[in-house]
Amino acid sequence: MNLNQVLQARLQQRQDQSLYRQRMITEGPQQPMLRSQGRDYLCFTSNDYLGLANHPQVIAALQAAAKTYGVGSGASHLVCGHSAVHAQLEQALAKLTGRSRAVLFSSGYMANVGLLGALLEATDGVFEDRLNHASLIDGGLLSGARLQRYRHNDVADLQQRLQKSQARHKLVATDSVFSMDGDIAPLGQLAQVCQAEDAWLMLDDAHGLGVLGVHGGGAALQAGLDQQQAPIYMGTLGKALGCYGAFVAGSDTLVEAMVQFARSYIYTTAIPPAVAAASLAAVNLLHEESWRQAHLQQLIQRFRDTAQTMDLPLMDSHTAIQPLLLGDASRALQVSEALKNMGILVTAIRPPTVPANSARLRITLTAAHSASQVEQLLAALAKLQHQGLLAS
Ligand SMILES: *Cc1c(COP(=O)(O)O)cnc(C)c1O
Repeated sequence: MNLNQVLQARLQQRQDQSLYRQRMITEGPQQPMLRSQGRDYLCFTSNDYLGLANHPQVIAALQAAAKTYGVGSGASHLVCGHSAVHAQLEQALAKLTGRSRAVLFSSGYMANVGLLGALLEATDGVFEDRLNHASLIDGGLLSGARLQRYRHNDVADLQQRLQKSQARHKLVATDSVFSMDGDIAPLGQLAQVCQAEDAWLMLDDAHGLGVLGVHGGGAALQAGLDQQQAPIYMGTLGKALGCYGAFVAGSDTLVEAMVQFARSYIYTTAIPPAVAAASLAAVNLLHEESWRQAHLQQLIQRFRDTAQTMDLPLMDSHTAIQPLLLGDASRALQVSEALKNMGILVTAIRPPTVPANSARLRITLTAAHSASQVEQLLAALAKLQHQGLLAS
């Protein structure tokens, strides 16, 4: 069979299963009113949790740095692509997360793959929560270490697996805030088990950084875990910080090992310096505009309170990620399309992003939303509920 025939068959199958993905073309900045094909939608599906992606100070920092540094970084960090503003941002991120040092990666996916590859070998074991982000799973597989997936947030299951393992080194990796569920991993207990079983704990804080902890310093700080207890911290710049890129933070030695051994760090172009400057402005805004975290928490509480009285299929989440569990992929798609017709954007998350029969509407709230916009969402959901579309 020729290539296109093979692919056509696979694409058709995906369509038949209601799992086909489509890209929406946007025509303006990330903000609650998102423009697409000439129409404005009220958007509840972005990861711009603090509303910084379109913040005037972040934009101004990007523009000013482009004047100083130009656009492209020109090379990888190890050649001549590591600018003063990259270095400044690394220092600011280390300080923000309470770690000795940080090193920038070009994306969170690359950070996870590079980090696990740099730290692990075939004789090692990597232990991951079943619901970890795909980039952690891929990083674990690519590292060549033996990958085990423990039951979601099940510290006892993890401990048993660690005790049975003959691996030379053991690394435990978890999302701190689960990207499709919104719940927070039991970080204190995980740190204790890792200490008891001599395993290294790695946190992927893509959805916690900026939102959780003092001044948005992240989930490790919120849980009171220092660099000894949670030695490997990964955060991203593309979500609550509203920019692009990622970093690994920890001891000086860990960071130096990334620079020497992480292939996705070494063999890729550094993020544009202007993007680093924008990220630095966003980090400063975490302090200057701390009302953003507080306002977001209020919206989360308000949404949950009303959704609970409506008996909507909420999940056990107290973060900005507030999914409604629907189960069936075609149902989730149907609800997402009905909302879109009402001018509201919420993505239907379906397998393989989430386990089979756990398709959901992934609602996300941001500090840029107003209380009345959240009321609009709830009113639209009430309407669909009356039509019988929202039971799980
Ligand atoms: C988004 C995300 C990543 C990937 O980060 P990018 O910078 O978008 O590549 C990694 N881990 C988790 C948990 C994420 O949600």
